[in-house]
Amino acid sequence: MSSPVEPDPARRAEIREFANRAVRPLVSKMDTAQRMDDGLVQTLFAEGLMGIEVPEAYGGYGGDLLSSAVAIEELSRVDPGVAVFVDVQNALVISALLRHGDGDQKRRYLPRLATSTVGAYALSERDSGSDAFALTTEAVPDGTGFRLTGHKHWTTNAAEAGLFVVFAKSGNSSATAFLVDADAPGVRVGERISKLGIRASSTCAVEFDDVLVGKENVLGGANNGRVIAMETLNIGKIGIAAQMIGLAQGALDAAFDYAQQRRQFGEPIISYQGVQFPLARLTAELDAARTYLYHTIAVLDAIPLAKRLTATATAKFLAAEVAERAASQAVETLGGNGYSTEYPAEKLYRDAKIGKIYEGTTNMQLRAIAAARVSGGEHGDGAAPW
Ligand SMILES: Cc1cc2nc3c(=O)[nH]c(=O)nc-3n(C[C@H](O)[C@H](O)[C@H](O)COP(=O)(O)OP(=O)(O)OC[C@H]3O[C@@H](n4cnc5c(N)ncnc54)[C@H](O)[C@@H]3O)c2cc1C
Repeated sequence: MSSPVEPDPARRAEIREFANRAVRPLVSKMDTAQRMDDGLVQTLFAEGLMGIEVPEAYGGYGGDLLSSAVAIEELSRVDPGVAVFVDVQNALVISALLRHGDGDQKRRYLPRLATSTVGAYALSERDSGSDAFALTTEAVPDGTGFRLTGHKHWTTNAAEAGLFVVFAKSGNSSATAFLVDADAPGVRVGERISKLGIRASSTCAVEFDDVLVGKENVLGGANNGRVIAMETLNIGKIGIAAQMIGLAQGALDAAFDYAQQRRQFGEPIISYQGVQFPLARLTAELDAARTYLYHTIAVLDAIPLAKRLTATATAKFLAAEVAERAASQAVETLGGNGYSTEYPAEKLYRDAKIGKIYEGTTNMQLRAIAAARVSGGEHGDGAAPW
C-alpha cells in the first residue's frame, strides 16, 4: 500500500503505460477534430478511469482522491484535454455525489457514472464567471419538484454528458444543486465552442427550458448550492492542479529528450548551461508544486474549510504557474520544431493557458490566498466559491 503522500507507484506506472499506448496515438487527431475519440471514451470507462473514487460496491474502482489526482496527472502528461474529461467526471461530478448525494441518488447514479455515463458540471453562465453566484438560471418550486430555466455557458463534457450537476438560483441569495438527466425534456446542448487548447474536451453552452426536476434529484438539500459549489470546486481545484502538474511534466520530458538528441556546434544542446539550467529550475519548481499538491490532498479532510480553500487555491496557483512556464520553455528548447505541430510542445503550450482560467482564475486563487492574511479580506464572505 502507498503512503498518503506517496502515490502507489504500480498504479501510476499502469496509467502511464495506458496513456502512452492508448491516448498518445490519438492526441493530434483529437486536437484537430476538436472531439474525444469514441473508442477512447469506452476504453477510459473499461480501465476504471471514469469512476476512480466510486466504491467497488457501485461498480467503481474504489480509489481515493490521491489516486484520482495521479490518474489525471498521468493522462495530462500525454493529453491535458483527455485529462480534463476524466477530471470533471471524477473530481466534480462523482465527488459531488459522493459527498452530498443521498443513498438513493448514489444507488441510481454512481453505477452508471462508473461504467457508461459521462457527467458534466454546469455552474458558469455568460455573465456569472468569477462572480459565480450571480446566477440567472432559476429553479422555481413546482408541486412535484422544481422547474429549471436558464442558460449555462462553458460546460465541459456537455457534448458527451448523460448527467448534469446544475446550479440554479432558488431564492434571493440562495442556490440549489440539481442532478439533471441530459435526456430530460427541455435540456438542449449547444455547439462545441472552438478553443485555443484542450480541444479534445467539449465545452458547450447548455439551455434549460422549463426542465422539470423531481425533489429526489435535489443534491444536498434545497438552498445548499453555495456550500456544495464551494466544497466540490475545492476538490475540483485539486484535479486542475494535477492536470497542470502532468502537463508540466510532459513538457519537461519532451524538452529533456529533445535536448539530448539535438546537436549544435558539435554537441548535444543539453550540454549548454543556457539550455540545461532553465529546465533544471523548472524541474525543481515542478517537484515543489507536486509535493505541495500531494501534501494538500493528505491533510485536506483534517483541516477547517477556510484553510482548505487556501491550500487548494495555493496548489492550483502553483501548478498553473509552473505548467505555463514549462510549456513555454519546452517550445524554446525545441527551437523551430517547438513551434511545429509535429512535436508535442506547441500543443502543451496552448493547453497550459486554461490552468489560469477555469475553476477560478489565478486572480481568484490569489484572492483566497490573500484572504488568509488580510483581516476583513474579500474571501470567506461566501460571495464566490473559489
Ligand atoms: C475551456 C473552459 C472550460 C470550462 N468548464 C467549465 C465547467 O465545466 N463548468 C463551469 O461551471 N464552468 C466552466 N468554465 C468557466 C470558468 O470557470 C470561467 O471561465 C472562469 O471562472 C472565469 O470566469 P469568466 O470567464 O466569466 O471571466 P471573468 O470572471 O469575467 O474574469 C475576467 C478577468 O477578470 C478578472 N477578475 C474578475 N473579477 C475579479 C476580482 N474581483 N478581482 C480581480 N480580478 C478579477 C479575472 O481574474 C479574469 O482575469 C470553463 C471555462 C473554460 C474557458
